[in-house]
Amino acid sequence: MLEKLKEEVCNIAKRAQHDGLCKHKSGNFSARDKETGYIVITPAGMDRDLLKPDDMVVIDIDANVIENLSNLKPTSETLMHLMIYKTREDVHSIAHTHSAFATSFAIVNKPIPAIVYEVATLGLTKARIPVAPYGRPGTPALAESVIEPCKEADCFLLEKHGVVAIDKGNIYEAFLKVSYIEELSELYYRCLSLNNGKDVEAFTQEELDSWVYPTQVKL
Ligand SMILES: [Zn+2]
Repeated sequence: MLEKLKEEVCNIAKRAQHDGLCKHKSGNFSARDKETGYIVITPAGMDRDLLKPDDMVVIDIDANVIENLSNLKPTSETLMHLMIYKTREDVHSIAHTHSAFATSFAIVNKPIPAIVYEVATLGLTKARIPVAPYGRPGTPALAESVIEPCKEADCFLLEKHGVVAIDKGNIYEAFLKVSYIEELSELYYRCLSLNNGKDVEAFTQEELDSWVYPTQVKL
């Protein structure tokens, strides 16, 4: 079942590793089927180079396993994915990685401000990528910690842990967001270094909200 979705999630999990966003077995990815509401999610403890579409686990919103062809467990962060899908009914894909620069800001519990205009695609409402308060990985506490941040923005850091991006479209869109956040985090790190650790000027939410795609501008 849901063959196309399984293939998409599997391919993105591999690509994220090859792009250096997550190493070894870290990070996890999921997508929600628009018709059935079932969720296709990456399995726990599987080498991504060996990962194949049939290894994806299909679950429902209450974590019941619907299909499990390779007899693998869903990722240990399943509760967090489900909490996001419950909180944001418009969301259909989630990407979670431990990429180095973004995770560095998560470790020091520092939200990333809107320093370049591309952040306009990240669904921010407070001109920042927020940090979800620490919750022990794999526990209900971590799942609870993402409720407010996922209402605030389409991406957030997990304190002392990593980064999450969510999207209304397919898993490729969520993957693009986590890739972009890593780039943005590196830029921010370099800006802070150049500025002797002092924070830099950032865009306000009002400015972000006033941007429109060029084709929408009346000349
Ligand atoms: Zn993680």
